[in-house]
Amino acid sequence: MEGRNIPVAVAGAFRDAFAGEPSGVWSAPGRVNLIGEHTDYNRGLCLPVAIPHRTYVAARPRKDRRVRILSLQVPGERTISLDGLLSGNRGGWAAYAVGVLWALEQAGHRIGGVDLVVDGRVPLGSGLSSSAALECAVALAAVDLFRLDGFHGDEGRRALAGVCVRAENDVAGAPTGGMDQSASLLARRDTALLLDFDGDVAPRHVSFDLAAHGLSLLVMNTRAVHSLDDGQYGNRREECAAAVGELGLGSLRDVAPADLDLALRRLSSDLLRRRVRHVVTEVDRVTRTVAALVADDFAALSELFAHSHASMRDDFEISSAELDTAVETAISAGALAARMTGGGFGGSAIAIVPSSGVDDISSAVANAFSAKGFREPELFPVRADGPARRER
Ligand code: ADP
Ligand code: MG
Repeated sequence: MEGRNIPVAVAGAFRDAFAGEPSGVWSAPGRVNLIGEHTDYNRGLCLPVAIPHRTYVAARPRKDRRVRILSLQVPGERTISLDGLLSGNRGGWAAYAVGVLWALEQAGHRIGGVDLVVDGRVPLGSGLSSSAALECAVALAAVDLFRLDGFHGDEGRRALAGVCVRAENDVAGAPTGGMDQSASLLARRDTALLLDFDGDVAPRHVSFDLAAHGLSLLVMNTRAVHSLDDGQYGNRREECAAAVGELGLGSLRDVAPADLDLALRRLSSDLLRRRVRHVVTEVDRVTRTVAALVADDFAALSELFAHSHASMRDDFEISSAELDTAVETAISAGALAARMTGGGFGGSAIAIVPSSGVDDISSAVANAFSAKGFREPELFPVRADGPARRER
């Protein structure tokens, strides 16, 4: 669990690096997605929850147009001019932060330079969305420091999520959809966030209080290499776009589950058929998962997670030996439901487990990893947390 003293420590790191006090400290959470993978950019549904792990940003405005930025997770300080930033400029990790400032200016907001110290407590590159946590913490800091209009309340935060997506797509160069940023800015404690990317639909908050049922949400970070900008994610996105083109539709959301077989017959290759089958059935599983949660039907949830994982493994081909091992071992050791989460190609899986079984199931997964010669996984239970906020 994240401590209350982190914002104080980040302010201290700011004083050490830049002398003087930061104007404030802001934080934004990482997330796990309960179900609905690679659906956001297909105008589909997903169901993330924010996790207690957050990225913290201490910030202070400058009089010029420069951004001085330091991450406690990466050696070296960077200074970047706001005027030198271009779309498609891959500036390494700092692009995720500075890109947000660029995207705010692109959206017509007046901002200036800023000194930033970042402390990311979301494991980096683990499928838990440290990238969006960084973007959203910087975005919230900028909104407060430069008194930007239009970003308050739920509506405003949805607009801010759009700004962060633009930063990740256009400046950091990672072609992700909008799930991560929406989760980080809109999530609520003990709820899951039902996001619908088909037009301008308001998110729905679905009660997700596992503790009330004696259950816990276990995160299983495989710590196997995962990077969303290495091309695989973009490759899946292109395959979905190719299928949309062949079908002559606006998006894969236009394929109703009942019409799936018809659509599959019209596709030119088995590969595209498998990609489409994943997306269409996965969107349907999100709807069914919400119904299962509302009904406290954990048996249904178990099946939905199992089908989702198989679909990602066999049809969308984004799982890995580590993720499959985590999921299979958790289930054999007593988890009610388990699946990989996030963009895939490494990263993390989740399991819904009896709270009394967290330790035994974690040991079983760790032992299975050790037996197979995988890196030691990082295993921790999480409670659905609230959104990005000002800390001090
Ligand atoms: P994920 O979002 O699942 O953690 P990504 O590949 O999307 O994985 O994003 C990870 C990248 O985000 C890192 O490689 C780094 O460039 C950047 N990043 C995130 N948090 C930090 C941080 N605290 N300090 C520096 N860079 C960070
Ligand atoms: Mg990310």
